[in-house]
Amino acid sequence: MKGISSNLSYVHGAGGPPLAGLTIGEVLDAAAERWPDSEALIVRDQGVRWNWSELREHARALAGGLLALGLEPGDRIGMLAPNRAEWLLAQFGSAYAGLVLVNINPAYRTLELEYALKKVGCKALIIETTFKTSDYLAMLGELGPEIADQTAGKLELQRLPTLETIIQLGDAEVPGMFGFGDVLARAGDDLDERLRAVARAIDFDAPINIQFTSGTTGSPTAATLSHHNMVNNALLSASVMRFTADDKLCIPVPMYHCFGMVLGTLLCATTGAAIVFPAAGFDARTTLEAIEEERCTAMHGVPTMFIGALDDPEFSRFDLSGLRTGIMAGAPCPIELMKRVIDDMHMTEVTIGYGMTETGPLSTQTLPNDPIEMRVGSVGRALPNTEIKIVDEADRIVARGEPGELCVRGYNVMLGYWEDTERTAEDLDQTHWMHTGDIADMDEDGYIRIVGRSKDMLIRGGENIYPREIEDFLYTHPRIEQVEVVGVPDPRLGEEIAACIRLGEGETLTEQEIRDFCKGQLAHFKIPRYVRFVDEYPMTVTGKVQKFVLRDQLKEELRLAS
Ligand code: AMP
Repeated sequence: MKGISSNLSYVHGAGGPPLAGLTIGEVLDAAAERWPDSEALIVRDQGVRWNWSELREHARALAGGLLALGLEPGDRIGMLAPNRAEWLLAQFGSAYAGLVLVNINPAYRTLELEYALKKVGCKALIIETTFKTSDYLAMLGELGPEIADQTAGKLELQRLPTLETIIQLGDAEVPGMFGFGDVLARAGDDLDERLRAVARAIDFDAPINIQFTSGTTGSPTAATLSHHNMVNNALLSASVMRFTADDKLCIPVPMYHCFGMVLGTLLCATTGAAIVFPAAGFDARTTLEAIEEERCTAMHGVPTMFIGALDDPEFSRFDLSGLRTGIMAGAPCPIELMKRVIDDMHMTEVTIGYGMTETGPLSTQTLPNDPIEMRVGSVGRALPNTEIKIVDEADRIVARGEPGELCVRGYNVMLGYWEDTERTAEDLDQTHWMHTGDIADMDEDGYIRIVGRSKDMLIRGGENIYPREIEDFLYTHPRIEQVEVVGVPDPRLGEEIAACIRLGEGETLTEQEIRDFCKGQLAHFKIPRYVRFVDEYPMTVTGKVQKFVLRDQLKEELRLAS
């Protein structure tokens, strides 16, 4: 029924299952009871194939080991690793132990890692040893040269004052750190009793996960999510996709993001579907191989991943006929790409989701039986139990069809940014609306289209990048006088980073020198692809740089199509 305000851009998603009052640990308990022997986790490059009851046992062992090391409910534990089996143990083990899991992007470099660990006061850290070009133990060695001479679990580090325990994921012993296996073996005979006591004390509204985002305005903030946020987002999205224990989900998206850990692993735990990690990091070929060989029924990805799979030169040799559904989200999803995913990847029921970390993540999703033009051309309608409104600059709800800032309210909105009431208040208003910084419009039937962004952000291959962070870093170069960073269109990644630099009087620098300066300090995806040296910038009459003009000029100069 349409209410009297139906001409305004406000909706409350209806239908779907009721919200569940469960903690993340209870979700895994339920899965292990209901589907004990069904496949739960397949990690192809590690040779792991666990059923739900094995996954639960390993996760409980990790929880017991962490408590035995002296960690207490509420303590923060960092997780820095690409997709591997231990990620699930960290996700569910931390929940069993009541620890707040802090997701750290494996692309982070030394300064970013230091920032993350300090920002939320991590007491422990689980860390991969090396991956691709990253040597994580060397990064830790830079931040804590004392580690090697200290006792594991009792670290006292100058630069990382809260960090007492490091658990490394390699096979060899490392001085000053525990091995992951050592920790699993520490769960004592009183494991059941200890975990029961923690479970009795945990409320589903408690904080359980922190993820770094850039908020809607700039430097990284620590979005804090509760069990309730994440469990229910997984449940509702699973119901939209009609997921069951017969499904098998290919997860090439990273676990450090909600897309992997909520819509991927947690969603499978709520339905008994199997989780397939095709590889530690995204790779189109291994994703296609995993879908074929494991007969996956679903795949999640940001648009760039689907483009990568479809453009693989050997795409046509793969049998993807087992695929049925999945989610494309994280960045604008081009209509033509959606059509190719439906036709060429057999994902006839593929859905588009829209969301952000701060909203656990999804707020809208298309339904498999929505009209085709809405399935490919909108981000769907509000998920059940979710309110959405679109407002103008004065925070007034706009009429249907008019663009404005999309705001979200409901069970999925984060608790806040960790110990940062000021930044929380900037994005989350007093009536609990999350202001997303995304510009959208809503049609008569409640379908939403994302038409732009008010926040100064660009999205490169699904990774959000805030120009300000790169600008601040480049300003530390003594020869740079001014720098403006903008996003320019890129056919594969959606957007690429361009830095326009004005050097100090008489100074010279090359593009390569700029990139070398960034290397090792900034995550690879934040290093500008294009560097241009300029003498002046397009300005407004009030003296502000007109970034959109700069962007257009660069587009022209680089001959890029939007
Ligand atoms: P994150 O916090 O990393 O999940 O990034 C969230 C941001 O990604 C949103 O605020 C949007 O700007 C963008 N985004 C997510 N999903 C979509 C989508 N389906 N279409 C357009 N933009 C999206």
